[in-house]
Amino acid sequence: MARSYDSNNIFARILRGEIPCKKVHETEHALAFHDIDPQAPVHVLVIPKGPYIDMDDFTAKGSDAEIAGLFRAVGEVARMLGADGPGYRTLSNCGEAAHQEVPHLHIHLFAGRDLGRMIGKG
Ligand code: AMP
Repeated sequence: MARSYDSNNIFARILRGEIPCKKVHETEHALAFHDIDPQAPVHVLVIPKGPYIDMDDFTAKGSDAEIAGLFRAVGEVARMLGADGPGYRTLSNCGEAAHQEVPHLHIHLFAGRDLGRMIGKG
């Protein structure tokens, strides 16, 4: 079901500089910052600068440059934080079944400990 982008969501406000974030990295197409409630020693969120609700919206409407820019930024952040050696996990919740809380696409990057195997079986 098509939803419209809420330009007052918290990550849109971070992108506009209305509220602060602990910035890790910024590129033409992406911003990365520390999650406010970290679930691992390293927990960074990487978001596109454009108004995309979730992975579905982004992969349907984002330009090739935006899509490449976001994924390159994820790899850059992992290398900047030294997570590429030991390993890391990326995750993006899309919609209700995944319990997405903030309606602006974000890729979680977790690292800094053994992250266990995948997700629970519910
Ligand atoms: P999700 O459930 O995938 O939508 O995850 C939303 C994430 O955003 C959660 O991990 C929150 O801790 C995080 N979050 C919410 N508000 C902020 C904020 N102002 N700065 C950084 N992270 C935030």
